[in-house]
Amino acid sequence: MNILSIGGSDPSSGAGIQSDIRVFSALGVHTLTVITAITSQNTSKFGMVEPVSSKILQKQLESVFSDFKINGVKIGMVYNSKIIKIIHQQLKKLKIPIVVDPVIRSTTGGSLIENNARKDFQKYIVPLATIITPNKKEAELLTKMKISTKNTPEKVAKEIQNMGAKNVTITGIEEKKKVSDFVLEKNSKYIISGEKIPKINHGSGCIHSAAVVYSLAKKKSIKESLYFAKKFTYKSIKNAKKIGKGIAITDIQS
Ligand code: PLP
Repeated sequence: MNILSIGGSDPSSGAGIQSDIRVFSALGVHTLTVITAITSQNTSKFGMVEPVSSKILQKQLESVFSDFKINGVKIGMVYNSKIIKIIHQQLKKLKIPIVVDPVIRSTTGGSLIENNARKDFQKYIVPLATIITPNKKEAELLTKMKISTKNTPEKVAKEIQNMGAKNVTITGIEEKKKVSDFVLEKNSKYIISGEKIPKINHGSGCIHSAAVVYSLAKKKSIKESLYFAKKFTYKSIKNAKKIGKGIAITDIQS
């Protein structure tokens, strides 16, 4: 099985393309990669971003699509409008699961998308999503709504569904001892709760969305895939290790 990861390079391998390779390798599937941007970052700080040119992005996409049967796609960091439009063009006719992880800022404070590309992200990338997996903060930034008793997770998820995503999960809604993911499918809604781990780490969102696309590519349902991803991510956060000087990096075991 081949899964395509479209996103940014992270030299610490905690997030981005390198993290996806770690996840898919642990799960025994082949990772195809299309790099949208190169970042300099580590576990303490985010440095700079250099997006790739339209030409090499296009060529990377053509290389993988002309050669492989692709069973699922994950879209992570897309950075600017040019990149967004090329990805949209190449993926709009695909009939395989596409998971969109709408990354906006890294835990260490780096900007993963240009401010003026947010509208195009909404217009061209969100509608590609079989499921979109924002965390609470990302869902709030996408919708410009703050989750509260008035703007419930359901209301915010509905707003994202109205942008064109078929299914939505908003992850990391913290309660006292639990952390919950709200899920809005086409005809149902539910909450997946788990134990809160008081640990800040690098790359947990990337791991969650990668585990979701893996499971969808294996023809599991949205619900089964989200439960699988929750468990997989929980383990990788629980086992996260401080291997650099800054925050811990998730540890992946199959
Ligand atoms: N860098 C890249 C290239 C990413 O794709 C992401 C998230 O998807 C991050 C950094 C952010 O990771 P985190 O916020 O978990 O540190």
